[in-house]
Amino acid sequence: MLPHEHTVVMKFGGSSLADTDKIRKVARMVADRHVAGENIVVVVSAQGKTTDGLMKMAHEVSPNPSKRELDMLLTVGERSSMALLSMAIADLGHQAISLTGSQCGIITSDNHFNARIIDVKPVRILDELDKGHIVIVAGFQGMSYKKEITTLGRGGSDTTAVALAAALDARWCEIYSDVDGVYTADPRIVDPFHLVELSYDDMMQMAYRGAKVLNFHAVEFARRRQITVYARATAGGRETMVRKPALELGRTVLAVAGADNLVGLVTDGLPGTASLLERLSDNHVEIQYLLSRPDGTGVLVLNPVTAPDWRAAAPPDVRVERLFSVSVIGRSIGFENRMLTTALAEAASCGAEVFCVEANPSHLTFYCRGDSGAALTAAFHKAFVTPR
Ligand code: ADP
Ligand code: ASP
Ligand code: MG
Repeated sequence: MLPHEHTVVMKFGGSSLADTDKIRKVARMVADRHVAGENIVVVVSAQGKTTDGLMKMAHEVSPNPSKRELDMLLTVGERSSMALLSMAIADLGHQAISLTGSQCGIITSDNHFNARIIDVKPVRILDELDKGHIVIVAGFQGMSYKKEITTLGRGGSDTTAVALAAALDARWCEIYSDVDGVYTADPRIVDPFHLVELSYDDMMQMAYRGAKVLNFHAVEFARRRQITVYARATAGGRETMVRKPALELGRTVLAVAGADNLVGLVTDGLPGTASLLERLSDNHVEIQYLLSRPDGTGVLVLNPVTAPDWRAAAPPDVRVERLFSVSVIGRSIGFENRMLTTALAEAASCGAEVFCVEANPSHLTFYCRGDSGAALTAAFHKAFVTPR
């Protein structure tokens, strides 16, 4: 095996592996890097929309499937990708081996469907790299300390990649998707500016507010372990480097990010808010935002993607609002009255019905009713974001 400073982790998302031609293309990319003299560990996601398809099937057989069984089911997607990629690499004359998360020593908490990595013991990977093999790892999964198969939350293959880069002391982690880096907003919605470099904190804020190009927990892990992450497109083009920043000073508006399909639970008094919060946390349902009004009423905003069983945890009579959020992200922003008044005017002209607003130095987030998320994203981007 080459010294660890020659180890690189490359992660390929679902769109990069969507069909067998794409898998063969990734196999060639990986093989070329191996020939160039690097120890290569590849992390794969499930192909295309496989995970969504499996989720749909689960809900067809049961409206509220057990999260343990969901994990058993969903991990199949990544297992299939890893075996296919390993076969395609072997076909090019290179020795490759596929490994599941548990075989790679990824130990997680026991919170099924949204587990966190607590330890990585990559003995098996090191053995294989030692033999000069390319290692293909199924992303998004691990094994709890109770020896149960777990998944790491939607988009969790990014986290697998960063965690392995840290455990292997790799040079860096490369995350390949259908977009050539991180932009000032989702390129599917507006024509944004490309960001060459980003700090961990800024990227975390963007990811948390809905920019799914990199997973929030992956970036958090990268920050903790100081792993440089490159966001790239499998098709080539530009890239964005996420790493410890040079000095960050002054006010900046960085980007706009949005999230759809959020849920707002409305309570009619402080005791109701407190007991709802307790019920949700007992069921590991993460709250994104809690607003407690002076009259005692409250709003708890959650993202059902992190907890598909939130309904079972909430009392049946709780008022439910379907919301979307759009956030302006930056530094030393959020509390500026001028920004807030402009944002309110933009929301009104888009027809967004503002439900509540979260203002903070690092972001200004509008939670709204309706379906004008894309329009509000475009309006905020035009009003606040300038090229860096
Ligand atoms: P993968 O399946 O490869 O993990 P994702 O779908 O999770 O890829 O992430 C890539 C997608 O992220 C892009 O197709 C793009 O629409 C979306 N995206 C959202 N916000 C941003 C942003 N600020 N910059 C770049 N892409 C973004
Ligand atoms: N396949 C999983 C998902 O769709 C994990 C990932 O793609 O990162 O969420
Ligand atoms: Mg992703």
